[in-house]
Amino acid sequence: MTDLSQAENIREKLLAAARQARHHAYAPYSGYAVGAAVWCDEGNVFAGANVENASFGLTVCAERVAVYRAISEGAQHIRAVAVVTRDGGMPCGACRQVLAEFGDEDTIVWCASEERGDLAEYRLGELLPAAFHLTGRSTGEDEIILGGV
Ligand SMILES: [Zn+2]
Repeated sequence: MTDLSQAENIREKLLAAARQARHHAYAPYSGYAVGAAVWCDEGNVFAGANVENASFGLTVCAERVAVYRAISEGAQHIRAVAVVTRDGGMPCGACRQVLAEFGDEDTIVWCASEERGDLAEYRLGELLPAAFHLTGRSTGEDEIILGGV
């Protein structure tokens, strides 16, 4: 576990990365720019911004962009996430589930408001209690069954 001074450094590093990413948000429909950054076990930070689409269902939240960037670069576990919005908005339900896939109940979630300058800290277990998890991983045989072969 990290000590407090390291946690503060990580928090500031993540918030800075999330703020920077927020500048790249593509949010012409909602006008709600979001930046997020995740800190992984290896110490790497990955950031993302929300990317909207004219076909609204294709919009992806900043949190998921950051998580998918991390996983696609080889990260396996997320220890903390920072989210920056104008008003301290919280991760949506879909993003909480994605965070639960790669984090755990102790994963820290910081939510910062750019307008008010305040910051809230949560644990993922608070934001998504009793998260859905499959109890086992595919052995390959399941895929054959599911594939109808
Ligand atoms: Zn979301």
